[in-house]
Amino acid sequence: MDRLALVTGGTRGIGHAISVDLKNAGYKVAAGYHGNEAAAKKFAGETAIPVFRFDVSDYASCEAALKSIEQRLGRVDILVNNAGITRDVMLHKMTPAQWSDVIATDLNSCFNTCRLVIEGMRERGFGRIVNISSINGQKGQFGQTNYAAAKAGVIGFTKALALESAAKGITVNAVAPGYIATEMVAAVPKATLDRIVAQIPVGRLGHGEEIAHIVRFLVSEEAAFITGSTVTANGGQYLV
Ligand code: NDP
Repeated sequence: MDRLALVTGGTRGIGHAISVDLKNAGYKVAAGYHGNEAAAKKFAGETAIPVFRFDVSDYASCEAALKSIEQRLGRVDILVNNAGITRDVMLHKMTPAQWSDVIATDLNSCFNTCRLVIEGMRERGFGRIVNISSINGQKGQFGQTNYAAAKAGVIGFTKALALESAAKGITVNAVAPGYIATEMVAAVPKATLDRIVAQIPVGRLGHGEEIAHIVRFLVSEEAAFITGSTVTANGGQYLV
């Protein structure tokens, strides 16, 4: 298949699973990362997927990366905005940097990358964009005013861009995962994690592959009638 998929944060965690799944489905894949060279190198060696280092929170960095990806691999037909961070702390102790780092990485990133690919997708009459939100953008979470605001913002952004893009053969959807076993979740203290798992009706954390399967479906030709949706995958923890 000729279509090129760019997966931000595509070398670790959920993004790793998405990159591999799309490659196995026959897409050309480019995976972005930010600072973890060792993980990116290991990922590239194991999967033969080319990796590109850039900062999704920085427009100029995204612009340079998109230029280099397009020169090397061709036009981006599929964009998965997966890169994200947490800086958990209650609002009354949150620093301006903890607020703005999360908003810049988890929300502004969607503007940065979509802005850079959307014109080409409109000209070619085809595009698939999937933005990774979170259960905590849907329901809120203690200690995550920054993250919940960013991830709720991703859902609004997705709906608005879906409306703007529908007539041009471009679909824009969000996926809202619940708690998935990745390094991001491993950073949560064990006692808190045990309490979280106890609230998941399925009785376990999710797997990155379970999110990847949703993304693969949403980017397929067959999903052309699905746009502006948020697909929730949280083991029944929060029913929207
Ligand atoms: P990980 O922490 O395992 O991986 C995050 C990835 O994002 C890494 O590849 C990292 O790059 C990349 N990244 C972080 N900051 C930047 C940046 N500024 N520029 C470019 N890339 C960056 O995260 P998860 O796999 O757990 O999460 C993936 C997405 O899913 C996130 O958006 C997260 O909010 C969301 N999510 C996760 C849930 C979970 O339970 N894990 C639940 C709900 C949503 P590098 O490797 O270089 O550090």
